[in-house]
Amino acid sequence: MNKSDRIKSEVSLREVAEAAGVAWDLKKSSPNKGDWWGPCPLHGENTASFHVVEKGGTGGFFKCFGCHEGGTVIDFTMKLHGLDFVSAVRRLAEEAGIAGELSEEKKREIETKRAQAKERSEREAARQAENGHRMALRLWQGSDIPNPNAIKARGRHLGGAILPQYLTARGVRLSVIGGVPGTLRVAPCLDHWDGGYDRNRPADYSGAAMIGAIGREKILGVHRTWITPTARARHQDGRKVEKQWIGRTGELMGQPCVLSPPSQAVVLGEGIETTLVAYSDLVSQGGVQWSAEAALSRGAITGPAQDKTQLWTPRPGVQEVLILGEGSSKNPREARELYEGAAARLRGLGLSVLLTVPHDRWDLDQDFADVSVVESLKG
Ligand SMILES: [Zn+2]
Repeated sequence: MNKSDRIKSEVSLREVAEAAGVAWDLKKSSPNKGDWWGPCPLHGENTASFHVVEKGGTGGFFKCFGCHEGGTVIDFTMKLHGLDFVSAVRRLAEEAGIAGELSEEKKREIETKRAQAKERSEREAARQAENGHRMALRLWQGSDIPNPNAIKARGRHLGGAILPQYLTARGVRLSVIGGVPGTLRVAPCLDHWDGGYDRNRPADYSGAAMIGAIGREKILGVHRTWITPTARARHQDGRKVEKQWIGRTGELMGQPCVLSPPSQAVVLGEGIETTLVAYSDLVSQGGVQWSAEAALSRGAITGPAQDKTQLWTPRPGVQEVLILGEGSSKNPREARELYEGAAARLRGLGLSVLLTVPHDRWDLDQDFADVSVVESLKG
């Protein structure tokens, strides 16, 4: 085997990316499966579009869904350091101690190190998942229940009327759907850090947050949206305070926030608010007995993840799904293809699927919080 082939099969792309400063997004990644997502070091971003698949711990491939670069560890090193092929191979060979053929002893040594590194990262991922889950449950249990009937039953105090006010302001008809769903609570004053909790930085925002339970049978995590009585909370510079999740990392992606009792027909949207607006709109029309779930990210509906556990699938017994699509003025074709792919995936599971988008247009940055879903289905 020549040097470049050995590098491709023996060097860990994940480790090389980590050495270049990539911090994996563990809510999106599945470490046990060698599936990693993080911010792309090649184009600079805050989201996690950089995808590495490296099942055996080495020999992986990357693909960035932001800048569309992709390839092996050699391609990555070339792009990252602006090197030609030969120089990238030389650099990686030096770093990994790959010269000519390795002695048996050296091979065993590398193998042991790799196994140890893999075990370490799995242990660390499991520890983070446990911590996240504990934090999520603590937050959920400490949050206020906004539904007055639930409050009486549980002897809890009313956590301000802020959540019903907020949802109403966003267009949700709460009286039609029996009030705020039991999977939503309020933390009256919750700290926020861009990029997640960091004890070395002061919080950049504090205020009321809607806490959404993630998971159908049990709570795997919580989704947090900072709110005011009328809108999403904003930083002083006008930016919206970003939504965040915490919980059992690696298992959250694809898990919904359930917004109603189950039924055979589910309306599926990305965000909690949009889904509730459409759901209350449909319920007010009567007819089909709808239920509602928020997938919490577009990727959980459409991919690009191929891993089935990271994609939303309905609970058993569901026969019909109404997907609330969201267009994009920047990239309407991609938006449409992704959602149509999602519809095809769910039809492949034997479901009857309807896909709708506001005004039947994929080139608008609108969701069903702005537009009536009932009108769109008539059209
Ligand atoms: Zn990129």
